[in-house]
Amino acid sequence: MPLDRRIVCVGAGFSGAVIAREFAEAGFEVLVIDERGHAAGNCHTERDEATNIMVHRYGPHIFHTDNQEVWDLVNRYATFMPYVNRVKAVSGGNVYSLPINLHTINQFFGMQMNPAEAREFIRSKSRQDIDEPQTFEDQALKFVGDEIYKAFFYGYTRKQWGIEPKELPASILKRLPLRFTYDDNYFNHQFQGIPAEGYTHLVEGILDHSNIELRLGAKFEELDEAPLHVFYSGPIDRYFAHKLGRLGYRTLDFEEIRSDDDEGIGNAVLNYADTDVPWTRISDHKFFAPWSLDETKGSLQFREYSRACEPGDTPYYPVRLATDKELLGQYVKLAGETEGVTFVGRLGTYRYLDMDVTIGEALEAGRAALSAIKGGDLPQTFYESVL
Ligand code: UDP
Repeated sequence: MPLDRRIVCVGAGFSGAVIAREFAEAGFEVLVIDERGHAAGNCHTERDEATNIMVHRYGPHIFHTDNQEVWDLVNRYATFMPYVNRVKAVSGGNVYSLPINLHTINQFFGMQMNPAEAREFIRSKSRQDIDEPQTFEDQALKFVGDEIYKAFFYGYTRKQWGIEPKELPASILKRLPLRFTYDDNYFNHQFQGIPAEGYTHLVEGILDHSNIELRLGAKFEELDEAPLHVFYSGPIDRYFAHKLGRLGYRTLDFEEIRSDDDEGIGNAVLNYADTDVPWTRISDHKFFAPWSLDETKGSLQFREYSRACEPGDTPYYPVRLATDKELLGQYVKLAGETEGVTFVGRLGTYRYLDMDVTIGEALEAGRAALSAIKGGDLPQTFYESVL
């Protein structure tokens, strides 16, 4: 196939892999490049030789979704094992259950309320005068009241985002449920699990097609060809060489702790809500594979520290402050004027996306572009409004 019929996907994470597969199955030749030495982006997993533990190299990833099509897709390429995320939180010298549920509320206030009593009790604590909360802090005060906010959200959020929660958008807190039952499943979604052989194996499975070439260790900036179309899942500001400035991201540092103790911390994730503990959470990766606990030796834990992302660091969380959104608007405008490129994924659209949403959007973006190309049109350059 001549080069000008070739599709290039920049980034071998879920976005790039899913779009590559769609085009490959439609008969196009696809080149997928990634500057790292592995596929799967920040979902990358690898087995640690000494302990046989599957390590989530860029932090914990638990797959959860209500989207049947997305769930069917990932299950085509990997065997998913049942996994329910049950997070614990250390606050003020005690250990509690997350997300905030009946157990947390009763333990925290030293009571024995039933669901109806707890709902009424939290209503009496929460700030009913806040109508439409715009900030994280207002959302929390309206949601759970001051005491729970301070104990579980204030410190963690300050550490995670590096700014006062009253400067952050309410949407970040809306990710978390509040329950008046003893259900401590961290997610509300119908489908939840972790691929038995890890996420890299899953993404490699999506990319395993005779029309797809995966080129690792390759930078887009150094690519010397003119493809039919590019799907770019790198940071949108980097595509434009940061010429208008840098969008704000948080990056993470991981401190590895190897222990001979098979029981480790006793759970996959422990959050640390207090400001005097510098890390946000500890994850003990053997517990992300409860089906294979007797096949591993010792435990491998990671203390997670969040800080501002500097040039050269790996971007994790888009901060999306008002200044970032304004800058994003200018990059989106540039993107709209750039032919032959569609911006996709967490970094390409500068949004806090879960894996299932990323896959769902990639399916849609790929479909829309395929039908445009087949109809002789240029694909849209931006997937959707992201501002
Ligand atoms: N959060 C918090 N305390 C916790 C857990 C979460 O304050 O113990 C806040 C924090 O601001 C975080 C947001 O809720 O960024 C979303 O949490 P989630 O667990 O979804 O974060 P992720 O796993 O994506 O880092």
